[in-house]
Amino acid sequence: MDIPAIFLWVLFAVWGACFGSFFNVLIYRMPREMSLIKPGSHCPLCKHKIAIWHNIPILGWFILGGRCANCKEHISIKYPVVEFLGMLLGFIAALLANGDLVKCIALFWLIVTLIPIFAIDFKYLLLPDTVTVGGILLGFALSFWSIGWLTSLVGIVVCGGGLFLFSFICSKIIKKEGMGFGDVKLLAGFGAIMGAELAGVSLIIGATLALAVTIPYRLFTKKDMKSPLPFGPFLGLAAPISYLFGDDLLNLLYFYLL
Ligand SMILES: [Zn+2]
Repeated sequence: MDIPAIFLWVLFAVWGACFGSFFNVLIYRMPREMSLIKPGSHCPLCKHKIAIWHNIPILGWFILGGRCANCKEHISIKYPVVEFLGMLLGFIAALLANGDLVKCIALFWLIVTLIPIFAIDFKYLLLPDTVTVGGILLGFALSFWSIGWLTSLVGIVVCGGGLFLFSFICSKIIKKEGMGFGDVKLLAGFGAIMGAELAGVSLIIGATLALAVTIPYRLFTKKDMKSPLPFGPFLGLAAPISYLFGDDLLNLLYFYLL
């Protein structure tokens, strides 16, 4: 489906800001095992409920002058920053999709969810179900207008099952817990969105990125090489790359191999 590009730019930028607003809630509450819905947005100090017009992404913080309307406590600048980042990433997704609505939704999801993946996995080694299971559901729904539901389903089973089996076998060999189940669900979601082949490319790019960054970082900071590695951010970064260029990369690979 082709839609005027500028319409998609604005629409997905606004959606990005709204997602950013939701991610603020997710990033704060998920690691603390709090409900995402109840209670509604409130000041953490005086519990004063935040009015709807003060909850408008980015603008709300400026209307309030960065302080709670009730107790005047400072509200962290990171809230509007995350919302702005969501807006920027939403815009970038729409730009890259080149007027294709289905591609735009898929790219939007892959790029915007990098915010909670980075914010939560690096700190807590967790990936929220909203992002991982959400990706599986969205990918499968979108497949009816893109790769087809069967390819999507095979992608979910092969990627999720494959990575689960791999990490299970590894954990038996090294006798330590292997990859987190969050990573398994995240890759299953990529399989749902782009099919098993391109999701496999994401896995290879993600693993390469993870090793290329983590080994030098741990050598430099003298951190324990065996401590668990947050894999989600690297896998997440690899996904839009693979979604956009995976076919070209595979063609290049086949060309040199065959
Ligand atoms: Zn307050």
